[in-house]
Amino acid sequence: MRSRYSAYCHHEITYIYNTYHPSVRPINSLSAIEEFANSVHFTKLTVLSSEQTTSDGYVCFNVMYIQNNLLCEFTERSRFVFDTTWLYIDGVLADKPPIKIGRNDFCPCNSGKKFKQCFTHQLSGN
Ligand SMILES: [Zn+2]
Repeated sequence: MRSRYSAYCHHEITYIYNTYHPSVRPINSLSAIEEFANSVHFTKLTVLSSEQTTSDGYVCFNVMYIQNNLLCEFTERSRFVFDTTWLYIDGVLADKPPIKIGRNDFCPCNSGKKFKQCFTHQLSGN
């Protein structure tokens, strides 16, 4: 699960695609994954719990990311199945309402810069 998170951070689109279970690849196309990865900037991952049997696993995590001028956060319980490697099949999501980031607020990515000065997000933002 962490490897998929870092793949999102590093825009390794093919890796994300290949770690989807084959049954859900049609609804998670390379272009859809790429579009999402390009529109967000992840700032924080917290793994809350994980459990696994020999055939399936569950990971509960909380993630925060910046999309446009919003700080978004959700908690997900992901389900993985083991088929030579762990593959993501689906998850149950709980969204929080996004928080608008003011231009003069400190950037939630912890760069220590004001949001308007945080160069990274100006590129991926709008
Ligand atoms: Zn930033």
